This record gives sequence, structure tokens and C-alpha cells, in this order.
Amino acid sequence: MISRIDMRGSLPANLRDVLPRADLDVEAALEKVRPICDEVRHRGAAAVRELTARFDGVEIQQARVPREAIQAALRQLRPEVVAALEEAIRRTRLVHRDQRRADVTTKVVPGGTVTERWVPVDRVGLYVPGGRAVYPSSVVMNVVPAQEAGVESLAVTSPAQKEHGGLPHPTILAACALLGVDEVYSVGGAQAVAMFAYGTEECPAVSMVTGPGNIWVAAAKRLLKGRIGIDSEAGPTEIAVLADDTADPVHVAADLISQAEHDVIAASVLVTDSVRLAEAVEKELPGQVNATRHAQRITEALGGRQSGIVLVDSIEDGLKVVDAYAAEHLEIQTADAAAVAARVRNAGAIFVGPYAPVSLGDYLAGSNHVLPTGGCACHSSGLSVQSFLRGIHVVDYTREALAEAAEHVTVLADAEDLPAHGAAVRARFDWQVPSRKET
Ligand code: NAD
Repeated sequence: MISRIDMRGSLPANLRDVLPRADLDVEAALEKVRPICDEVRHRGAAAVRELTARFDGVEIQQARVPREAIQAALRQLRPEVVAALEEAIRRTRLVHRDQRRADVTTKVVPGGTVTERWVPVDRVGLYVPGGRAVYPSSVVMNVVPAQEAGVESLAVTSPAQKEHGGLPHPTILAACALLGVDEVYSVGGAQAVAMFAYGTEECPAVSMVTGPGNIWVAAAKRLLKGRIGIDSEAGPTEIAVLADDTADPVHVAADLISQAEHDVIAASVLVTDSVRLAEAVEKELPGQVNATRHAQRITEALGGRQSGIVLVDSIEDGLKVVDAYAAEHLEIQTADAAAVAARVRNAGAIFVGPYAPVSLGDYLAGSNHVLPTGGCACHSSGLSVQSFLRGIHVVDYTREALAEAAEHVTVLADAEDLPAHGAAVRARFDWQVPSRKET
């Protein structure tokens, strides 16, 4: 059901290359996505409707979801789902509110200051996946940080669903209603990213697109990056579990299965120094998989080349492996899990000990679940308030403070053979470089 990779003895030098990973060729997808984006760019809303018919099998009259449909979805949602979403929003807001940043002013010299002013992006488009599974939780994870950052104009898009009359899934609409979002579109895939980037008659262009999605969404984000800002390319989900002999194989198996449930190319990786645990997890998996609803999808994901059980000599080596893997989600299920977790360098989010499963983080921990995948956690972070802010340096110098810097500016400008730079400073002092004594 899941393959074993034995790294006992010595860890390979090219660790990152030999670890299991999904074959996700975003570069190849770019070729398919380019004409889709071009169509939306040149033909706007009509192209969006045609592409929705082609890829989602739904004829939509308009991409914009009527406000009444958003409110109606909330009225029809089961009360226990409303309560759970409200609690998820409350916890996520608590964590993200604490991420807000104050402007910082640094006094560089007397009369010379630099202030870093944090300014939210004016308008953002948030992609909520809706192909294989429906993710109202992703509405929460995208919208809350944008709102807490102070973004003024915020639109959500999610694929049109045939069985829901061409609207996004009602639970997604209800989550938008709970969050006070009333600009929602029923568009998925690359065409949704292009709609946001170029704008159409129905949807004004945005400055930034965030949110997870499949390979077409990731490719469109990569293609249009620059025209729009993006978060990380959050692709198929991944879980790595670093566990020792003290871990409960029932929990470990359940957690590996829970992430495999997302997608046939989702990755579930166990890294352990315990052969006993590896065997127990292997024994546990088939029974638990068969008992779950998406057994077929999970079996494919666990059996894929992106999943596996990696055997190492020690937790010390295990740490090297998980750092090289840089998982989107990393669980630490070892003795003294907090101490082991503190040593991890690369992960999207870390889940410490037996009572912090990834499923908690997917919905209700308060942390964000839009996280870097495919090893990008070695250079990127998950979605946060920071993702929606720009730090603008505001430079404020008096005449005296500029005079004091003038000589150095002129010397450096000449060293770069850019004398006009120095001249721009000297012009303020009748073309003389004032000596420090004069100031
Ligand atoms: P999706 O909404 O990303 O993609 C569905 C859209 O893809 C459709 O609307 C359709 O327009 C387009 N499409 C389908 N086939 C196409 C084709 N052949 N050519 C061009 N476009 C096509 O939904 P999904 O497919 O379920 O994927 C969601 C992904 O998001 C999963 O891989 C899941 O693991 C991931 N995810 C990641 C996170 C995270 O934080 N990293 C969170 C939630 C979901």
C-alpha cells in the first residue's frame, strides 16, 4: 500500500532529490494555460463563460454570484456547520490579528528618518478550490488574513458546480456570507486567475491573487506573476510525520490517510527510526483506508511515488530528512516532541505531539492552512497578514541631514560612474559638496 525507502546506514548526499515527491510539471502545464489566459485577456467575460463550459461542464449566464444566492446559502446551511465555521473564523482571526505590524520609524541621524509604513494591497482575488473536494475552510484561511491586513476590496472565486446550478458549492457561499464577503464569482481553474489578473466586464482586475488550487491554477499564477502578486504556489497537499517508537501507529496511519484524502497526488510521508513503528503503520493502513469513504483516492495517493515510509538510523537523521523535504505539514510524534520541533528549520507548519494532528490545522487550530508545498517551505511561508501588506520606506531628511550625507553620496555615485546621482544632491547646495564642518 505504501513503499519503504531505507536510508539506514548513511543518508544520501542528494537527499532532497531522492525523497518521494509528486511529479507536478507546472512548466508543462504553462503551455496549456497560456492560451486560456490569452482568451480571457482578449475576450473577457465571454471567454470566462466559454472556458467554464469547457472545463467545468456548466453553462453560466454570468460569473458574478448574486448577493441573494450568497445569503440564501447561509440560511440553508446546517446549524452545526454554521457553528463550526464561526468557531474556525473566530480562532483564525485571533491568530491573524496578532500578526498585524506597526509602522516603525528609525532615526538614522539627527534630522534623518526612515519609516517602514505597512500598507495593505488595495484589491485582492482569493481562489478557493472546488474541483475534487470543497473547501469552505479555504475561504476562511484566505479571507481572514486579508481582512486583518486591512485589504479594502476583496473578491472570492470558486469553480461553478453543475449540481448547484452553476454556482460555487453552497458551503463556500455560506462561508463568504459569514465573513461578510459579497463579491463572489463562479469561476475555477486558470480562467479564474486570468479573470482576476486582467479584469473583465464583470470583475475589476485585482493586484494580487492568493489561494491553493490544482496544477492549472498553479500554472496560471506562475504565468501571471508580475502582473499580479501571488502567494506561494500552494499545490497538492503534503504531510510528513517524524516519529519514533513512542508514536501511536493508529494515529500515524490516520494522519497519513487524512492528507491522502485530498488528492491522488497528495503526499504522505512517514520518517522514522523505528522499524517496529513502520511495520505497525503498514499493518494499520489497509483497515483504516478500507473503512473510509474515499478509499480509492487514498489508496492511489499512498501508493504513488510521492508517498512512502523513510527509515533512518536516528531522530537526528530524521531531522535532516524532514528539513530536506521541507513539508507543507510536518507532525512531530516523538518523545519530547516540542524539543524536536524546535530544531526543525524547514516546514510550512509544524504540529507538535499526539494532540495536534494536521486535521486540526486544516480547520480549527487558528493557524493558516494555505502553506507552501513541493519543498517551497525552505524559502516561503504560508499565507498570513504579512502576505497582504507592502512595506513602504518613507525617507525624510532635513537640509542639514542631507548636507551631512552629500559627500558620501557623491563619492559612491562617482564610484558607480553615475555622476548625475551626486549632482542631484549637490544641486541643492549650489553645486558645492558641503564639507562636514559647514553643516
Ligand atoms: P481546483 O479548484 O483547484 O481546480 C478545478 C478547476 O480546474 C476546474 O474549475 C477547471 O476549470 C480546471 N480544470 C480541470 N481540468 C482541467 C484541464 N484539463 N485543463 C484546464 N483546466 C482544468 O480544484 P481541485 O482540482 O480539487 O484541486 C485542488 C487542489 O488544491 C488539490 O490538489 C488540493 O490538495 C489543493 N489544496 C491545497 C491546499 C494548500 O493549502 N496547499 C489547501 C486546499 C487544497
